[in-house]
Amino acid sequence: MAEARGKSAASEQRPVTALRGVGAQLAERLLRLGVAQVQDLLFVLPVRYDDRTTLRKIGELSPGMRALVQGEIQLTEVAYRRRRQLLTRLSDGSGFLTLRFFHFSQMQQNGLARGTLLRCFGEIRRGPQGLEIVHPEYRRIAAASEAVEETLTPLYPLTEGVTQGRLRALITQALAELDAAGVHDWLPGEVTENLALPSLRDALRYVHRPPRDAKLAELSAGRHPAQRRLAFEELLAHQSSLRLLKRAAKTDPASALADEQGLEARLLASLPFPLTGAQARALAEVDADLCAERPMVRLVQGDVGCGKTVVAALAAARAAGSGAQAALMAPTELLAEQHARNFRAWFEPLGLPVALLSGTQPARTRRSALEAVASGEVRLAVGTHALFQEGIAFSNLALVIVDEQHRFGVQQRLRLQEKGRAQGRFAHQLIMTATPIPRTLAMTAYADLDVSVIDALPPGRTPVQTVVVPEQRRDEVVARVAQACRSGRQVYWVCPLIEESEELRSQAAEETAAVLAEALPEVRVGLVHGRLSSAKKDEAMLTFQAGRVQLLVATTVIEVGVDVANATLMVIENAERMGLAQLHQLRGRVGRGAAASTCVLLYRAPLSHLARQRLQVMRRTNDGFEIARRDLELRGPGELLGTRQTGLAQLRVADLMRDADLLPRVQAAAEVLLARYPDTIAALSARWIAGGEQYGRVG
Ligand code: ADP
Ligand code: MG
Repeated sequence: MAEARGKSAASEQRPVTALRGVGAQLAERLLRLGVAQVQDLLFVLPVRYDDRTTLRKIGELSPGMRALVQGEIQLTEVAYRRRRQLLTRLSDGSGFLTLRFFHFSQMQQNGLARGTLLRCFGEIRRGPQGLEIVHPEYRRIAAASEAVEETLTPLYPLTEGVTQGRLRALITQALAELDAAGVHDWLPGEVTENLALPSLRDALRYVHRPPRDAKLAELSAGRHPAQRRLAFEELLAHQSSLRLLKRAAKTDPASALADEQGLEARLLASLPFPLTGAQARALAEVDADLCAERPMVRLVQGDVGCGKTVVAALAAARAAGSGAQAALMAPTELLAEQHARNFRAWFEPLGLPVALLSGTQPARTRRSALEAVASGEVRLAVGTHALFQEGIAFSNLALVIVDEQHRFGVQQRLRLQEKGRAQGRFAHQLIMTATPIPRTLAMTAYADLDVSVIDALPPGRTPVQTVVVPEQRRDEVVARVAQACRSGRQVYWVCPLIEESEELRSQAAEETAAVLAEALPEVRVGLVHGRLSSAKKDEAMLTFQAGRVQLLVATTVIEVGVDVANATLMVIENAERMGLAQLHQLRGRVGRGAAASTCVLLYRAPLSHLARQRLQVMRRTNDGFEIARRDLELRGPGELLGTRQTGLAQLRVADLMRDADLLPRVQAAAEVLLARYPDTIAALSARWIAGGEQYGRVG
């Protein structure tokens, strides 16, 4: 037994490049999936499964199904619709199916000759000539009787440059090693005893290779015991590491910020509005922390538009007024610039310059900003998360503010702590998030943080009115867009959430923008999507902010923080495919000024029961906490995996909402580990949290 352990512990240390065919380039790409060691591959879990164990008749297909079919090619031709495309018509005697390709090579076209027998798989859609599959997976077969798959087919999350097939092959290799060497189960017996869940090894086998008769619904819902075993371990890794972090922070030294120069009071007096009661309460909690000689690690949680930025600015003023520096980190360049503008408007009248550190600014500007920060000449710096991670030298950094924490996970919080530690004195941390979650979940997601809640919006806002409209009435919606633009307002148009890739998402946005520009010749249309360089993205957003673009077509990249008060209409396409948290975030982009705003949720029928309820929730309430509560209720068996993006804690397997019932046991287990098994915490965080090896050094 001891020998087997030794072996498995060693296999946890093998870099992924030890596998056949994995070179430096692929290794770098895999890193984006959190894979550095061979063992990490086992913990890249399928986002869903396809059932390719059964062949379907074309005549039995209906839109929305993902199905395996085969047939003989009747015809292949290149067509010129809006774009050049290849169309292949397939028949199996029971009906016809069109295969549609937008990207194709000559070789591919030649391989799809009339008479060829083809087996293909994909999502069935209703097309102009009947049922079709866009970009099916396919292969030629020699005989109709060729065997089908024996286990369900896992679909893994993808990253640029790593195909599904490639990833599957690598995971197959890792599974073979699992069979040979095992994998170390770190959980002590007293923790696993009462869990009634499979062993780690069985759980891993099952999720990667579910048998043909596995309950697909249960698996798709992420509720299978095998998945729950892994979710439990992941939640425990997070919970225990975060608790350890908090415990360690309680003994660290930090500077008490007394604000001898009284800048916080001066900023407060200069604001054009009084703080809301909720803002004032949060600020009082922050101030009390900042006056202590232990580092603050506080989360300010508040719905979109509740006014978190000004609370952060007041905290920054306290740091500056104490002769120290404060840094504000935003998730995107766009938000960093927006914050820099706000900060300048607030602080320059007080004689305090603000440095913007942007990845897109000219090298010279950036260098002088960096110098000003390093020398201590500038006390307030604003930049992106990414930028700060590169390591900027401060002369006396006492407060770090992190905006939109849901893009700033445990790993980053950890790194930030480490950086403070290196300086000897710890910076206070103020973290802001608009992701409202119920209290029980907050205790887990934010186990390392103290929490302040801003639970009211500034007065004078008109609630956003939300309407739910079927796709068939798109024309009316377009007319509404024209109307809004004509009356001097601005509009966001959010494009469908295509899960496959950023590229497809961006493509869809480009097409939508082109179609809308054609339909609305008098409207100035802008476009922003994830494939644009950040300079181009910023440019698009800035022209929108400046009012030079009236209609901004976008992918979900505009999700967080952007503040354009003149935008009063938002259209969200395929809203039925989005989760409540995301819809709420998106909707928060409108209704930021005094004018009445509308959010149009366009959906494609037929609606699932769950989707219908989600849209209803959106129509009925604007309250983020209420939405989060309903989200928790609505999730459950039947919900698809892949809606895990509440983004609270960058979890790989677990979903705080879905797995909420595990949390009491996770908390109890964390107590056990904290009391008696510190090494286990280090091992679990190394496995589950990228960069988590560092926890080994904490405490
Ligand atoms: P969020 O909490 O979503 O980050 P912001 O900080 O961007 O919200 O604030 C949204 C808008 O509300 C901003 O335009 C801000 O100036 C304004 N605002 C903030 N606090 C108040 C207040 N107490 N009274 C009136 N307007 C406020
Ligand atoms: Mg904000």
